[in-house]
Amino acid sequence: MSNRYFSYRNGRLHASGVALERLAAEVGTPFYCYSADALEHGYRHFAAALKGLPATICYALKANSNQAVIATFAALGAGADVVSEGELRRALAAGVPAQKIVFAGVGKTAKELAAGLDAGIMQFNIESLSELKLLSEVAAARGVIAPVALRVNPDVDAGTHAKITTGRADTKFGIDAGEARAFLLANRDIPGIRIEGLAVHIGSQLTDIAPYRLAFERLIALYKDLRAAGLPLKRLDFGGGIGISYQHGPLTEEGGGEEIDTADARVDAYAGMVRELVEGLDAEFVFEPGRLLVGNAGMLVTRVLYLKDNGPRRFVIIDAAMNDLIRPSLYDAWHEIVPLKAPTPGAELRPVDVVGPVCESTDTFAKQRPLPPVAEGDLLAFSTAGAYAFVMASTYNSRPLAPEILVRGDRYAIVRPRMDYDTMIGQDRLPDWLEDAARQDRDAEKTGETRGAA
Ligand SMILES: *Cc1c(COP(=O)(O)O)cnc(C)c1O
Repeated sequence: MSNRYFSYRNGRLHASGVALERLAAEVGTPFYCYSADALEHGYRHFAAALKGLPATICYALKANSNQAVIATFAALGAGADVVSEGELRRALAAGVPAQKIVFAGVGKTAKELAAGLDAGIMQFNIESLSELKLLSEVAAARGVIAPVALRVNPDVDAGTHAKITTGRADTKFGIDAGEARAFLLANRDIPGIRIEGLAVHIGSQLTDIAPYRLAFERLIALYKDLRAAGLPLKRLDFGGGIGISYQHGPLTEEGGGEEIDTADARVDAYAGMVRELVEGLDAEFVFEPGRLLVGNAGMLVTRVLYLKDNGPRRFVIIDAAMNDLIRPSLYDAWHEIVPLKAPTPGAELRPVDVVGPVCESTDTFAKQRPLPPVAEGDLLAFSTAGAYAFVMASTYNSRPLAPEILVRGDRYAIVRPRMDYDTMIGQDRLPDWLEDAARQDRDAEKTGETRGAA
């Protein structure tokens, strides 16, 4: 059995059982394609690794919040980690039970806190004492009790990219552990609040287990300490952040590529470490994987528009741009670029710059990337485009948002059509003074006059 959900079959790149070429013919390019089989594999493996622990797996929606993706996980029993009212609504709409939803984020508004209370979610992850005070007011005004986990900043350097590290004392996330402890011991009865747990989330794309161990040890020590002091804590939220492999070599016929095995092995190591640390601990647990579950379940498919040589440098200009996939421009992220037609074995690789059409130099996907021969009109795919990809897309340069397709076995569904131009333009409104001017122009046209003629 193949462990890879994107592979060549008869020389054509497939997502599960569907040729990507066929999808390109149907929806045009660029488009995102996700494999439901890969999503299910990832979730099931994570759940199996934690089997026996009283754990809720709250998929972190911000990695990929298409309703079909959320619903795929919900159907397997997943909860959700949301960071906005929009995500809360998405989770509920996709069928995630409120009692499996945690609400995180450093800047929740009163309205968002109220929405969480009204929905009856499992837990608010509170990131500052000011936020706790606001939640207390909002809950007390409603006559309800808000279940809370304090997000502690364990001051651990996850050693990941500076833009995605969150567990160091100098980041904006969480409450200093000493401060949290002192506060909780001094404030045992907060109106409208029930402190049920402690939470951490030390960053994203962590490929090393050591920072987790350090952060979890600190969290567990604080948990034990507070329980010993009589606080009725019952839950530990270990956050998300497990990294995946972005570089996994050329795709081959079925079975090539190691990224799924790598992810599974990393999950096993992580789960083993957690089991060791929580041995004998009276607690239930929350995990918030995002990227891990969706990253390697998606690809972005694009077409080569033009080839251009500027001196010795060859540019491959494609129809996907930084507005579709911003990770390379934002985080210097590296994505494999694979042709939809399998390259002939032994084909010579040539370094090229792969760039999008947007008017920014940073609209560059790869510099001096060795690729097999590429011709105008060819179809290419970016690997590992299931996480923090479509969700970060914008309409910059007035480029409509790309469509998303979900494949399962040999079936597929367009789970978000390409945004049409009328929708994009129709979001804007003219102010009344321009409306008036436009009306006068139209009236003048009717009567044959011209306005403001020089
Ligand atoms: C972003 C985030 C996650 C998910 O992170 P991944 O790296 O995608 O696993 C989980 N929890 C919180 C609080 C987050 O902010």
